[in-house]
Amino acid sequence: MPKNAAIIVAAGRGSRTDGEVPKQYLSLGGISILRRTAQAFTGHPGIDAVAAVINFDDRDLYEKATAGLDLSSPVAGGERRQDSVRLGLESLTATPPDKVLVHDAARPFVDADTITAVLAALDETAGAIAAVPVTDTMKRGSDGHIENTLDRSSLWRAQTPQGFRFAEILEAHRAAAGGPELTDDAAVAEQSGLDVALVPGSENNLKITTQEDLHRAERILMTGSTAANTGLRVGSGFDVHRFAEGDHVTICGVTIPHDKGLAGHSDADVGMHALTDAILGALGEGDIGQHFPPSDAKWKDADSEIFLAHAAGLVKERQGHINHVDITLICEAPKLTPHRKAMIARIGDILGLSGDRISIKATTTERLGFTGRGEGIAAQATATIALPC
Ligand code: MG
Repeated sequence: MPKNAAIIVAAGRGSRTDGEVPKQYLSLGGISILRRTAQAFTGHPGIDAVAAVINFDDRDLYEKATAGLDLSSPVAGGERRQDSVRLGLESLTATPPDKVLVHDAARPFVDADTITAVLAALDETAGAIAAVPVTDTMKRGSDGHIENTLDRSSLWRAQTPQGFRFAEILEAHRAAAGGPELTDDAAVAEQSGLDVALVPGSENNLKITTQEDLHRAERILMTGSTAANTGLRVGSGFDVHRFAEGDHVTICGVTIPHDKGLAGHSDADVGMHALTDAILGALGEGDIGQHFPPSDAKWKDADSEIFLAHAAGLVKERQGHINHVDITLICEAPKLTPHRKAMIARIGDILGLSGDRISIKATTTERLGFTGRGEGIAAQATATIALPC
């Protein structure tokens, strides 16, 4: 018999996020919001069974979103949120759990500590909800004017999960059925006189309702502030090409007249190669040679722009963003600094990045080593990218 169950309320068809698809089925960094939410509970050691309450018109979306997850059969929701929760609770009566957590599908960032804390609080009280203290000064207003100022020290913003002892909340919901609409389960519990504790939640446990919320959720994913495994990655790249006969070199996409050329299978753009490897490195996608084997005649004299654009495309495919790139070019000659601006513009065009996110520097090695002897040009690069966690 499951001791602790979780009900995920996913029956809403609200599309205030402007899309056709109900918001809980929208993709957030390549994974649907509902799947992220469900995983927070199926992956929690204190939760024994998880069921979602859905609108059966969205059954296909649900199946796709939850494929492979260990969920009980979905439950058909009702007219209002509280009806959906009641139907979810009724579905558990065959093997009633001790405790049940009710959670909004649209809150994918609930963390394990919050779930643990709500469950633990139910050892002492019939109900416990995640909530955050109000920090803004609160005004009561009418017709756009202030009536009075509320004492914020006693105010909390209710979140989910909201946990209850199962028998008590089932009875409270049955009693409230058909009555006036209540917007959360704590209100249902309060109406039945149950004691409900406030458990500190997290500001990141936001409810995704509007398009703006969705963007904020994407930002949270990108910065990784919900988890230790940050979405920011840094890759490095290094490349060398030796001088050969010729009258110009191509560095970072810019043709620079010189009394030598650079030898290489492609156009030997050492700067662009180092940068391509830096981006591939941040992605963990091997190196330029793996993607464009020098043994393949197709890449002979190729414009290195193709390589860089390919790496940038891989970042995009993973729904990531390049934050910043930094390239150091190392040679005695030709003088590269006068071409810096043109190089930045070229790299910016290929990566779709503004100039303030591209750094290109040139240095010598004080006539030491192979670059010092004028045998070739070296380049090193760093790329910082953000990937969804
Ligand atoms: Mg190279």
